[in-house]
Amino acid sequence: MAKILSGKDVSERIKEGLAKEVETLKEQGIFPGLAVIIVGDDPASRVYVNNKKKACERLGIYSEEYALSENTSEAELLGLIDELNGKDYISGILVQLPLPKHISEENVIERINPKKDVDAFHPVNVGKIMTGDYDFVPCTPAGIMELIKESEVSVSGKECVVVGRSNIVGKPMAMLLLHANGTVTVCHSRTKDLKEKTKNADILVVAVGKPNFVTGDMVKEGAVVIDVGINRIAEKKLVGDVDFETAEKVAGAITPVPGGVGPMTIAMLMKNTVKAALINKTKEK
Ligand code: NAP
Repeated sequence: MAKILSGKDVSERIKEGLAKEVETLKEQGIFPGLAVIIVGDDPASRVYVNNKKKACERLGIYSEEYALSENTSEAELLGLIDELNGKDYISGILVQLPLPKHISEENVIERINPKKDVDAFHPVNVGKIMTGDYDFVPCTPAGIMELIKESEVSVSGKECVVVGRSNIVGKPMAMLLLHANGTVTVCHSRTKDLKEKTKNADILVVAVGKPNFVTGDMVKEGAVVIDVGINRIAEKKLVGDVDFETAEKVAGAITPVPGGVGPMTIAMLMKNTVKAALINKTKEK
């Protein structure tokens, strides 16, 4: 049976460490602060925003929320970002995605000061991830790297396969694995013979958005399997993109859903906020 890589446990440890770091920073006059903007009333986004605020509270990080109505104009939202860019007590700005259709996500992301872009979605930060000289790493891939560490498998020289090439997960994930000296293959919806690729993976990261998409017969014996997917298949039932039941019989280590990658994403957001406070020398409100 595979080792279970518990994001719940690892994220708790990371948050404990961060809480201590926040205390020390405050003694030095640096006060991390996160501004979270949510537009509209998407229930999933609401849950994510609440969790982020709760994590801030727990770590002693100041946070403020801007809950804007669905019909907020792009100009209004950009105006708010300009204001937050200028506030010396805000280290990080997070705009919860997706935004309503009439607002360009690209314009919004580009308006955030890259030094306050704790999601690492701004093109400047995306470019830095490519070169390897980065301050902020997108939260989900950063959290996955921590879980891979937990598996005690070194990435160096390993066959790493990432299924999915989104800007927020697949692509930055591939870059992080490459920087860690993995040999990386990125698969997507046009990939031929997907099973042949996944079966070759020592480290397999799946971010497709399809319930139980990768089954045990697609996994190499002993592989580290990271399941990024969050799929709601019934009122209270969440499953990943990996069929846990069959995959755990073959894998050496595997993340559960829920309790795997999800909690790590928030811990990494907190880490980026603390880093942003150091970079911006954020003041107390
Ligand atoms: P996305 O933007 O929808 O991208 C999905 C990717 O999967 C695309 O690159 C797509 O290929 C690929 N794909 C679709 N069908 C495929 C197939 N049959 N074979 C191979 N590849 C296929 O999704 P995302 O934002 O990366 O998110 C993926 C999943 O992770 C979702 O379930 C999401 O909810 C979850 N997620 C979880 C967290 C977390 O914190 N745990 C964070 C972010 C996302 P093409 O590019 O060719 O279309």
